[in-house]
Parts: sequence; structure tokens; C-alpha cells
Amino acid sequence: MTLAITNTLTGKKEPFKPLGDPVTMYVCGMTPKDRPHVGHAFMFVHMDVIRRYLEYRGYNVRYVQNFTDIDDKIIDRARAADRDPLEWAREYTEAYFEVMDRLQIRRADEYPRVTDSIPGIIDHVQELIDTGHAYPTSTGVYFDAGTFEDYGTLSGRTEEDGSAGARIEVDDEKRDPRDWALWKRDDESSVAWESPWGRGRPGWHIECSTMIRHTLGEQIDIHGGGADLIFPHHENELAQSEAATGCQPFVSYWTHTGLVLTDGEKMAHSVGNFTTTADVLADVPPGVLRLYLLGVHYRSPLQFSLEAIEQTQTGYNRLLAVTRAQGNADVSRETSGADLDSEAAAARQAFEAAMDDDFNAPRAIGALFEFGRAINRLASRCSADEVERAQGVLTSLLGVLGIELHEPDAASDDATPFIDLLVHLRQQLREARQWELADGIRNDLGALDVVLEDTPDGTVWRRG
Ligand SMILES: [Zn+2]
Ligand SMILES: [Zn+2]
Repeated sequence: MTLAITNTLTGKKEPFKPLGDPVTMYVCGMTPKDRPHVGHAFMFVHMDVIRRYLEYRGYNVRYVQNFTDIDDKIIDRARAADRDPLEWAREYTEAYFEVMDRLQIRRADEYPRVTDSIPGIIDHVQELIDTGHAYPTSTGVYFDAGTFEDYGTLSGRTEEDGSAGARIEVDDEKRDPRDWALWKRDDESSVAWESPWGRGRPGWHIECSTMIRHTLGEQIDIHGGGADLIFPHHENELAQSEAATGCQPFVSYWTHTGLVLTDGEKMAHSVGNFTTTADVLADVPPGVLRLYLLGVHYRSPLQFSLEAIEQTQTGYNRLLAVTRAQGNADVSRETSGADLDSEAAAARQAFEAAMDDDFNAPRAIGALFEFGRAINRLASRCSADEVERAQGVLTSLLGVLGIELHEPDAASDDATPFIDLLVHLRQQLREARQWELADGIRNDLGALDVVLEDTPDGTVWRRG
């Protein structure tokens, strides 16, 4: 199998052929105006897994993610709170790192910020004017959509979209309703820069075009972001980049993540229907949230549900229990016929086949759960070494997904072997049909906040 990636531009799954070494990957990052919600976590976790899997496959990856650390919404929020916009953005940039580090999102190789990129953006805009793709007006500079033949090919849309109005101000001097601002004049704001077209700020779309060019080059392998960025943001990025450099394609593989929905509506700060990532992590370990978010293919929408996250905790505990399974010193493969090594090889193969198929994490996770069941089933008929090897394969493949298994908290570590022992003892009592004694153990553990669950694969326990 070779790795194939669905490319939004063509709508097709295409074999992955990188431009060179390293693989270049850019992800549209946060506009740090508020705390990251679960919608952000979904996108960043999946992009993190794409990067990790490429590395697992032997590629070097150079991963760049920007901060749109100045825009109208940041300025509005900061002003409403009587705060400095740049300071506001710095604070929420820190909030991003704080929570995404906990979620085991690996840090990017570089985090370009708009406020550090202004001279390059001005050069880029000037270049577009010089080549006839942009024109100045009394309010700033506009990209002339009509000069870019392929405009609309990424999104399949060419009409001006109503929702774009929030970012693009109406201007009578526009040549075409599809045109968008590359530079916005602003003589009053404290957050503005001098330019050949007056004091002001760059438009949102040009920023990413310039930052990509400066950090990764004129053409890149993978560009990620949420599906809500396809139009107009990425459509416009594509036009600005290809119009300026003449290099096509600007991006080999456009990878867009599905939206996270709450009651059928997109989770968004602007709607106010969001749950912050930090709030979820107050209740469940990072591995549980990752397992939950990766349970849906990255291109599919996720119906957000706190209940489903709690259910994911049970699956996570089941995997934890697998890592505690013990082999048997008194058996050999010849006599028992159990072969965990070949189960491990099959699991790795299934995992890779799933991930090679457009990073199908849910299918890969399914393969790992199946492998976990095999370990539980065969452990008592395998040597301790073989069980440990199998557990090592399981944890390393989970590691490719950035999922680490940890016992609930440090305090429980001391108690874990004894709880395991009681659960095992209860199992033996049940097999001996000593129901009353078995139930007594369950109830006593329950009183200590240890909840037992009998599953077809054996009994698992968790802290209640
Ligand atoms: Zn972008
Ligand atoms: Zn962007």
C-alpha cells in the first residue's frame, strides 16, 4: 500500500508524492481572540496525527502554523475590555499553547505571526499590483479576481459569498464583487502600519500566502485547515500565491477537516455554542479526548457530545487494562498454540492500511482495539516476553496517534495492582459460582469509587 490523500482541489484520493525532503506542511492556525474550543482541538489533533504518521512512514516533515495575531475581531474584543489588542492576542496565544501542549499536539517547527510579517506582506501586495492582479483604491488595495483564471477551482464557488462580508468591507471602488482586500487603510487605529497605500493593516487572506512563501517556499506539499476556510480564505490564498509566483500548484494536497457541530450548528466563538478544550480536559485525560476526536475521520463532521466523550473513557480504560495483562511463565508457544507475535504483525498491517488510506484514524483505532482484545484473550497462554512485546506494539501504534495511556492519577498507581488482584479474585469466585462473595467484592470496590464493568472481553474497572 502507498499513502493516499484526499485533495480538496480535485476531490480525489491521490497517491502521496512529496515535492522533496522535507515534506512541507502548513496549517492555518488560531486567531488568538478567545480560548480554543473543541472545534479547534479537532482540527489540530488531526493535523498533528497527519504529521506524526508521515514521520512514522519515514518522511521528514517541516510543519508551520501561523497565528493571525491581529484582526478586526481581536481589536474589537480588546477594545471592549479596554485592553491593548496585541497584548490580548499574546495572552490567547499562550492559552493556545497551554491547552494544546496538554493535548499532546506537537509544537510546530515555526509559528509565523502576522505582526512579524508586515514587510513581506507589503512586498507581496506590491508584486500583485505590479503584475496587474491588484489595484489600489481610496480604502486600500484589492485583488482583482477577474485576472486569475482559475479563481473558484478549489471551492467550486465563484459568487461572492454573503458570509465573507464580515471580513470584507463593501467598497464602491471594487471592480468585481468577488474582489477582496489585500490592504485595509486605517488612519485611526493604534494597531496599523505604514505602507505605500497609507497606514493600515493587511487583509486576512494575503497574510497566509506571504507567511507560507517566507517559511516554506512558493509551493508546498500539504495545506491544512478547517473546511470553513475553503472559501473564501483558501480560495483567495491560492489566487494570491499562484498569481504572484507563477508556480502551480501552490499546494499539492489540500486537507480540510470537518466541522464540529453542536445540535447541528457549527461550534464557533461567534455563535457562543462552544465548549473549551480546557473544560473537557478538566474532566478527562488528554488521551481520552484524542481518542474521541480521532474516532471520526478528519474530513467528516463531528457531532459534539460530552456523553460520547465519557463513553470514550470506557474504551480508554479497556486499552489501559490491556497494558496490565500478564503473560504466563509456564507456557511455550509449541504447547499453547497462541501466537501474539503474529497478532501484533497483523495489527500493525491493519493500522498502516487504515492510515495509508487518507489517514483513516477511526479504522486504525478499530484495529488497535481488536488487537487489545487478542492480547487479553491470549495473554495467559503466552510467555511474559511475548505479552510485553505485544503491549509494546500496541502502545507504540497508539503513540503514532499521540495517545498515551496513563492511570487516572498518581494516587491510584499504588492501588492499581491490588484492585487488579481483587478483580481477578472476583472473576475466580464467579467461575466457582460464588455469586454472593463476588458481588460483595464489587459492592465494596464501588464504595471506594472503583466501578467494575463486565464486558465480553473480561472485567474492566475505572474510578467512578
Ligand atoms: Zn491558509
Ligand atoms: Zn490562513
